[in-house]
Amino acid sequence: MVRGRFAPSPSGRMHLGNVFSAMLAWLSAKSGGGEIVLRVEDLDPARSRREHVEAILDDLRWLGLDWDIRAEDQSRRGAAYAEALERLDGMGLLYPCYCSRDQLHAASAPHASDGRIIYAGTCRSLTAAQRALKPPTRCLRIRVPDETIAFADGLQGPQALALQREWGDFIVRRADGVAAYQLAVVVDDAACGVTEVVRGRDLLSSTPVQLWLYRVLGLTPPAFYHVPMLLSADGRRLSKRDRALDLGELRGHWPPERVTGLLAWRCGLIDRWEDVPPRELVAGFDWRKVRREDIVMDGDTLARDRLHGD
Ligand code: GLU
Repeated sequence: MVRGRFAPSPSGRMHLGNVFSAMLAWLSAKSGGGEIVLRVEDLDPARSRREHVEAILDDLRWLGLDWDIRAEDQSRRGAAYAEALERLDGMGLLYPCYCSRDQLHAASAPHASDGRIIYAGTCRSLTAAQRALKPPTRCLRIRVPDETIAFADGLQGPQALALQREWGDFIVRRADGVAAYQLAVVVDDAACGVTEVVRGRDLLSSTPVQLWLYRVLGLTPPAFYHVPMLLSADGRRLSKRDRALDLGELRGHWPPERVTGLLAWRCGLIDRWEDVPPRELVAGFDWRKVRREDIVMDGDTLARDRLHGD
């Protein structure tokens, strides 16, 4: 049984890029006769807001992207993360990290492609005596092996990443005690029985890290499909700051099937922009039709007359 998922972060209203990932996750699961789990990724207490959860759920329903199972929100899953951390600690893989943000920037070169910091290993081999002199922290890192993790992405093709050189020991528990995304997403997707993860290409480089965690924790990994990013006319990734393309704005001008039809057209599922609800795209859905390259949502595409009704 195929089981896909929606994993929205309630840090703002959904924008077109979020809708695009959710629509492809839904189509992939439904065309395989499968189901969708909804899991709210509200790990970060500072950025997650209850009202965004309600708006996102309402937007998904409005779009015709329904779900079969609602998993527990991540903010309620602390015990499961603590248990995973305990197991990793039992394997001798975890160590506290005392580095401040400034120290991290000074000691490591950011990775060119996405600006992530490759940890230089500053706290990796501190002795117990050295640790005793540091101010206490809850931040924990995991030691990654000198190994390259390869996998085949269902859309982007073969991928490989050298854990130590291209990622480094990563944070599994933040200084505020909250489980880090990389750990939580693995624990939760496994607990939800997710068999396929469809998400934005910005998370492609996280996948080898997560696959390694699946292996260490003895969990079965899902298949992965990383979908193109939607870009604004000036080449930036759409973000929750692009208010004009968030659903709060679009819902005022368009019926839901115009949004899904636009996305289906731009990614190659249909030949022209028509009003098409997701359920009418299920029969013809095929990953081989979906383009891999990022998609520019330029002014031509989103001409004002379309945006404001014909
Ligand atoms: N919660 C993330 C987001 O809303 C998605 C994480 C994932 O799909 O693994 O962007």
